[in-house]
Amino acid sequence: MADGLIADRPAGGPHAFVTLVTNADYALGAKALVRSIRLTGSTADCVVLHTGGVAAEDLAPLVSLGARLVKTELLATSDAFNEAHARARIHGLNPFTKGEKPPFHTPLDNFAKLRLWQLVEYDSVVFIDADALVLHNIDRLFGYPEFCAAPNVYEGLADFHRMNSGVFTARPNVTTFESMLAALDTPGAFWKRTDQTFLQHFFPGWHGLPVFDNMLQYVWFNMPDLWDWASIRVLHFQYEKPWQDPHPKAAQLAPLIALWEAFAGDGPVPEIASLPGPLE
Ligand code: UDP
Ligand code: MN
Repeated sequence: MADGLIADRPAGGPHAFVTLVTNADYALGAKALVRSIRLTGSTADCVVLHTGGVAAEDLAPLVSLGARLVKTELLATSDAFNEAHARARIHGLNPFTKGEKPPFHTPLDNFAKLRLWQLVEYDSVVFIDADALVLHNIDRLFGYPEFCAAPNVYEGLADFHRMNSGVFTARPNVTTFESMLAALDTPGAFWKRTDQTFLQHFFPGWHGLPVFDNMLQYVWFNMPDLWDWASIRVLHFQYEKPWQDPHPKAAQLAPLIALWEAFAGDGPVPEIASLPGPLE
């Protein structure tokens, strides 16, 4: 493992699912995510990259689930970079017109995802946002090359032009990490949708994963024909989070929020393939 990262134990094998938690709210998300991965039968490590601000008590449920905790810090980006990507500025310049980000979402924190390239104890990793659930086994992705991600589909065909950085495949490598830092924080750099815009720029030849490897929650009401519980391997709660109480789309997304709550708790979870779809 690279300098500056502190793990609570050695790696358990060559592959890992990796997520990021920079505050207590995303630790709630990560608990549901790690539990969902374990329920798919995967034996790969579940790594939670966490930054200094997250209290031990908020990380405790992740330890109980067997996650490997790796302590790190946000990237040491320049003051100019940090100011350019401050929440008020990002939201002011390019307002989110399709949905809302929760108050606990700090855009600058997203860039810390790039630290997964420092986890060189693994041959291949799959990054998954802390606001996602794995519903069917996705271990096959460990054999996929760098860099694969699904398109950012939640409204219509134009969405296929962009990728979504909530699920992607990567090969940790310190040289890649250093090239990324050099490309990221250049004079005047501004990445409109943070890590997502940067990763699409850094990997212009990104390989497309099926939308079912990163199904965005708005598909439920915007493109219900695309919904198929038997096919959806990762469900991603982009924009509003299921643990925000309440949020503007909570009524529309009630069945998905109930599903997330089942995974976030300690009780049974429903049989996914038998859940009713949006048109039923
Ligand atoms: N994240 C975090 N703290 C933050 C913002 C983001 O830990 O303040 C991490 C977390 O893993 C989260 C991911 O970065 O899932 C991306 O942010 P989010 O999922 O909120 O963005 P969206 O999917 O809504 O675009
Ligand atoms: Mn997300």
